[in-house]
Amino acid sequence: MTGGFRLSRHQEECERIIDAPNICLETSRTGEHYRLARFHTNQYYNISSAIGIGRNRAQFNELLIGKSKDQDINLHEVRVMAATGFDAGLLAGTLQHYQDFREDVRITYMHERDGGFTLRDESVFGRDEGVLIVHTVAVSFNGVERAIRLVQDLPSQPYVAGFLVLLDRSPVGSQWRKRFIAFKHAIGMHRPIEAYHSEEECPSCEKGIRLLDVREAA
Ligand SMILES: [Zn+2]
Repeated sequence: MTGGFRLSRHQEECERIIDAPNICLETSRTGEHYRLARFHTNQYYNISSAIGIGRNRAQFNELLIGKSKDQDINLHEVRVMAATGFDAGLLAGTLQHYQDFREDVRITYMHERDGGFTLRDESVFGRDEGVLIVHTVAVSFNGVERAIRLVQDLPSQPYVAGFLVLLDRSPVGSQWRKRFIAFKHAIGMHRPIEAYHSEEECPSCEKGIRLLDVREAA
């Protein structure tokens, strides 16, 4: 049995989890539409709810570990996992127990403030250490970019060993990868967002459908 076979099994299981009607919220069922990052959309994945369940997290972790290996991210060189929020921290908290990581891997959190990230504790970063950024949902990937910059600008000069994104919601044709050529990364799942950039071009706004703000570090 190959690693690829096992990975595709986890992939299917993870997709089943996020496509369940309690996680994948759609305007046709909910009667609401969603503001995500700077877009309006008729489909929102409530990944936070999915991550809150330990059994789901185990599946997500298996998927991200498998994809990291596919992308040659050297998990053993990671000394610090930097989670970009509470949900990412939950993921990192269970990821750290996988034997692919060093036993002494540390976790730290970033939180959003004034349109950027701040670190809860800079002292966890030792000089020249490898950092893995853990992120849950990316639309524009601006959050990932800000997180990378934050780590690179630390006085202890750690380096970014890679980044993980559980769910890539970038629109079809997005060129985000061009901005991260220098960084190894693993993407768990991809569900392209069908997005409208403004109220004026959003058909749901035109129909008067309620807009729910689910903006997050996307
Ligand atoms: Zn709208």
